[in-house]
Amino acid sequence: MNWLERMKSGLKTRIKREIPQGIWQQCTHCGHSTYTMALERNYWICPECTGHYPISSRQYASLLLDEDSFAEMDATVTSSDPLRFRDTKRYSERLRAARRLSGLNEAILTGIGTMGGHPVALGVMDTRFIMGSLGSATGEKIVRLIDRARVDRRCLLLVCQSGGARMMESAFSLMQMAKISAKLRQLAEDRLLYITVLTDPTYGGVTASFGMLGDIILAEPRARVGFAGQNVIKQFLGTDELPEDFQIAESVLQHGFVDRIVSRDQLAVEIVRLIALLAPDGNPQEPPAAP
Ligand SMILES: [Zn+2]
Repeated sequence: MNWLERMKSGLKTRIKREIPQGIWQQCTHCGHSTYTMALERNYWICPECTGHYPISSRQYASLLLDEDSFAEMDATVTSSDPLRFRDTKRYSERLRAARRLSGLNEAILTGIGTMGGHPVALGVMDTRFIMGSLGSATGEKIVRLIDRARVDRRCLLLVCQSGGARMMESAFSLMQMAKISAKLRQLAEDRLLYITVLTDPTYGGVTASFGMLGDIILAEPRARVGFAGQNVIKQFLGTDELPEDFQIAESVLQHGFVDRIVSRDQLAVEIVRLIALLAPDGNPQEPPAAP
């Protein structure tokens, strides 16, 4: 029986079973495909090339904090579109889409928890929310997190991943850089430890403010860290060629802007070690008295 006859007789062709979406993941660095569950067990690091897959803010929170210790803060804080901005789309529409995609109301997840038993205030940016851009509500959530760290005397840990300031909010976005930086100054005056983790990508207003203000600045391997993006710099310099490792964390480390590159599977261990060494009970260790 040929296939035309089969259609006539009402026989259904057996539907070829497809691989369910998300069972395999393909590495954007080397193209290697890996079983999703194996990747999860490996902290979303490619077993072939050690490239770090992007992960969500909640995944970072669960891999960094002690189990069940996270209490989210200010989950309902969100931008109000103060300029009623519109480019190819209304900003309010972009906000709605970002909320649906990320499950967050803003481009950062904030809350308190413990790491190795040490109390911390944690903020993790999320690129699924308008490229993790720094909007007025993002800034407000960070400032409230800093206030909480000061009240409870907690170490502050911010995981950065962002395209920079949120252009749809113009100056409302840019002023967050100063607002957060001023708050971090108060945190420093309270002698509380502040650690930043720069992940791929960390750009613009985030690099130019709180990203680079950490007492300790860590970065994930091969994370892109810079101010202006590569295309802007190429246009500005009138060249198509930039060094291969331009704005890559390892190169940024060599130039002194980052303290250490830490692989994601070692991140929690490394941060707990730093807290235990520098601020074991939320308070910094006093330097030993001079002989
Ligand atoms: Zn790979």
